[in-house]
Amino acid sequence: MSGPRASDQFRPVAVVGGGLAGMAAALALTERGHKVELFEQNERLGGRVGSFRDALTGELVDRCMHVGMGCCTRLLDFIRRMGVEDRFARHRRLNFIGPAGEVCRFRPWPWLPAPLHLLPGLARLRYLGPRDRLSIARCMFRLGRLAPGQPAGEGTVAGWLRAEGQSEAAIDRFWSVLLVSALGETIDRAGLAMARKVVLDGFLRSPRGCELFLPKVPLAEIFDRPMNDRLRQLGVEVYLGTRARAIEISGGRCRAIVLRGGKRRQVGGLVVAVPWRQITRLFSPEQRPLLGEDWSADRLEPAAITAVHLWFDRSITPLPHAVLVGRTSQWMFRSSAEQSPGQHGGHHVQIVISASNRLVDLPRGRLVERVCGELASIWPAARQARLLHQRVVTEREAVFSVTPESDSFRPKPQIAVPNIVLAGDWTDTGWPATMEGAIRSGRQAGLAID
Ligand SMILES: Cc1cc2nc3c(=O)[nH]c(=O)nc-3n(C[C@H](O)[C@H](O)[C@H](O)COP(=O)(O)OP(=O)(O)OC[C@H]3O[C@@H](n4cnc5c(N)ncnc54)[C@H](O)[C@@H]3O)c2cc1C
Repeated sequence: MSGPRASDQFRPVAVVGGGLAGMAAALALTERGHKVELFEQNERLGGRVGSFRDALTGELVDRCMHVGMGCCTRLLDFIRRMGVEDRFARHRRLNFIGPAGEVCRFRPWPWLPAPLHLLPGLARLRYLGPRDRLSIARCMFRLGRLAPGQPAGEGTVAGWLRAEGQSEAAIDRFWSVLLVSALGETIDRAGLAMARKVVLDGFLRSPRGCELFLPKVPLAEIFDRPMNDRLRQLGVEVYLGTRARAIEISGGRCRAIVLRGGKRRQVGGLVVAVPWRQITRLFSPEQRPLLGEDWSADRLEPAAITAVHLWFDRSITPLPHAVLVGRTSQWMFRSSAEQSPGQHGGHHVQIVISASNRLVDLPRGRLVERVCGELASIWPAARQARLLHQRVVTEREAVFSVTPESDSFRPKPQIAVPNIVLAGDWTDTGWPATMEGAIRSGRQAGLAID
């Protein structure tokens, strides 16, 4: 790790963007001895990871559940360093709900050597026939052994699975279920290379890879105030409600940033940690060539994620979370007592639907009806329960779409100006758009700045 440059050492490094990438960059910069100023346009930290105050219940409700996995090693390290590790609960088991409502508990066996640890869990997916379960296991191992960049790695997941002879049942009830939520894209659009990464890191390499880390409290109580307090303790100056409007570059280096209202801040370096669609707003047309001649991040396409929040007059399931197979609803998360105390709004469950582009124009009432119908077909208590309140939150640009081409559009963190570095889940991290990807990119940016 190198220290700050002598010429810039008395000037702070500015981080623009207070999402996970920006916060991880700020943390890495403080470790290197930099003075850091973080500018976030919203009045809160966390970016896409956040909560809102529901007007009816008064509860802090997550815009959408954010799940960490055991393979997200940088995320786990980050939450530990930021002192919020105890606000997550580790779940070792995935509960798959089959088409007939059967609960199949999937848990890797840690005492079997990888990747054999998966076999007992796969054997429990009883809603699939024995032949499908066996061919899924074979196909997972083959996918893990594909070398990155191998010709087959350039197509879509669905194309590869069909070429491998996977049945439609195996594709719909296993592969799609597993990958759509992990990748945020449907398998007929998602690239094989990223699917391979998910299967390898999340399932094949270690029995701990697919453990779930779920927040025990609203996301804002992890990623907003506590992170702000921790960053300030580390000496970071955090400016909320402060949008960066422009960058000043002279003599080949970034000298200052201009904030909304025209205020200028001299800086010794800059980490730009904003979403890909906002990056070119910061660089003037004359500065854009500095991003690189082959800049193609604007070709990344967005993918939507929808969260359907439902408050019932009773608990509808004892399960804290479940993967719903073969339905519009993909994941169910039951809020803990700390997240949803229940005295006003009742019992809160959240249904998450990734790659929900096809649903964004469906009237909300119809979506809620469909989801409630699915829950009622699974849990008898949901049939009797009265729906007290509902909210549908769709993020149309939740993540970038991981198509076979998307990796070639993702920029490296360094640009032609040595003291400006890019960060964000959309940069070239090798990960899909995830908290892990954002934190990796931020850390890398914080360590790379010249
Ligand atoms: C609905 C949904 C569900 C998801 N589920 C999961 C999940 O279960 N697991 C998972 O790992 N990931 C999930 N993700 C993805 C994850 O949220 C993102 O990958 C990650 O949070 C991105 O972090 P980031 O810092 O790169 O970007 P962002 O969080 O977008 O942060 C960028 C920040 O920059 C700020 N900004 C922009 N322009 C300016 C400016 N000019 N000046 C100052 N500030 C500026 C923005 O306000 C924002 O706060 C989900 C995302 C969504 C939307």
